[in-house]
Amino acid sequence: DHGLSEADPEVRAIINKEKERQFKSLELIASENFTSRAVMEAVGSCLTNKYSEGLPGKRYYGGNEYIDELEILCQKRALAAFHLDENKWGVNVQPLSGSPANFEVYTAILNPHDRIMGLDLPHGGHLSHGFMTPKRRVSGTSIYFESMPYRLDESTGLVDYDMLEKTATLFRPKLIICGASAYPRDFDYPRMRKIADAVGAFLMMDMAHISGLVAASVVADPFEYCDIVTTTTHKSLRGPRGGMIFFKKDPVLGVDLESAINNAVFPGLQGGPHNHTIGGLAVCLQHAQSPEFKAYQNQVVSNCRALARRLVELGYTLVSGGSDNHLVLVDLRPLGIDGARVEKILDMASITLNKNSVPGDKSALVPGGIRIGSPAMTTRGFTEKEFTAIADFIHEGVQITIEAKGLASGSKVQEFLKFVSYPDFSLTDKVSN
Ligand code: PLP
Repeated sequence: DHGLSEADPEVRAIINKEKERQFKSLELIASENFTSRAVMEAVGSCLTNKYSEGLPGKRYYGGNEYIDELEILCQKRALAAFHLDENKWGVNVQPLSGSPANFEVYTAILNPHDRIMGLDLPHGGHLSHGFMTPKRRVSGTSIYFESMPYRLDESTGLVDYDMLEKTATLFRPKLIICGASAYPRDFDYPRMRKIADAVGAFLMMDMAHISGLVAASVVADPFEYCDIVTTTTHKSLRGPRGGMIFFKKDPVLGVDLESAINNAVFPGLQGGPHNHTIGGLAVCLQHAQSPEFKAYQNQVVSNCRALARRLVELGYTLVSGGSDNHLVLVDLRPLGIDGARVEKILDMASITLNKNSVPGDKSALVPGGIRIGSPAMTTRGFTEKEFTAIADFIHEGVQITIEAKGLASGSKVQEFLKFVSYPDFSLTDKVSN
């Protein structure tokens, strides 16, 4: 049995190149992080070889005594990491990732064409919360369910709870979804709970982006107010790529969430769990209970604030004016440039972040902003000082983008060409040598 270098040097070489790219760039994508060697060791282990459809003690395959032990350990650690009482909350650790976890919740508690409300994607929500355009139902969530997004108040950059309340009263959704992919502030869970209760809806939080911050109690706790909480495991939580669904054990609106959600995961939408991921997740969830993890998450937030502060000093407009969490959203439209160009220029300088739409954008194809996150570089030991310097690097990239756009618009070259004569030969003439 050979290691990867001997067995497949081609794949080894690609992995080496990707590792070098990760090592040599400033990783500022808000949804990415560097997991630990211990997590990667578990993910790269023999756990990947085993089929274990079903739940611990109720499997469809033999030989699962250790896999049962692992999954139970992972569940216990998940509940402990989020400070949950085992009598009140349960968890399914099998979702393959964040989007499947969300769809599993919808499958568990909704019928086809039931109504849902999530934050609109151009205002920071995620595809899986029901995104559709006027022309097309883009996400499976909007294909199978009727989606009416809520939005931000464009003047404040905060969720427009008043409008959400009014719309919910008319639309009467069965599910309201909190959570976002690009929202720099906390959700007002008490307000969301009130709105959900008034219309008889379930309240779910997709804490994918901020689950590490929630575990470390550096942002508000969604578990106090929501019936269901989903998450990815590979963003601020710093685990392997996967998903989890937490549910209240007592019935909600007459639904036994535990059996509905477990059945939606398997046999509803998945087959065999990825036991290697569950192994890596268990490792991550133990770490998430340590003082060192809490210190890391505090640093993630402080670094993001330092970044926001410097950007504001440099004259940038931030959506909502700042950040309470791990990301800032910069509105570049006042500078006459867009996020796509800045992303490209910064990429050339080994600064990795992503273009992002900002509230009021006319086109989703050319979004007017960039999203910058602090979790990954905080894992690599950066503090406020380095994040202040990062703001200066980004500023340089933006200046270059503005100049490049001026040059690319052609006006300078056109001006220059006005004084150059045009030779009298056909453009199709061959040039002889
Ligand atoms: N939910 C939120 C809020 C996200 O930001 C994301 C991914 O970025 C997901 C769900 C989907 O996760 P995945 O890419 O693992 O399917």
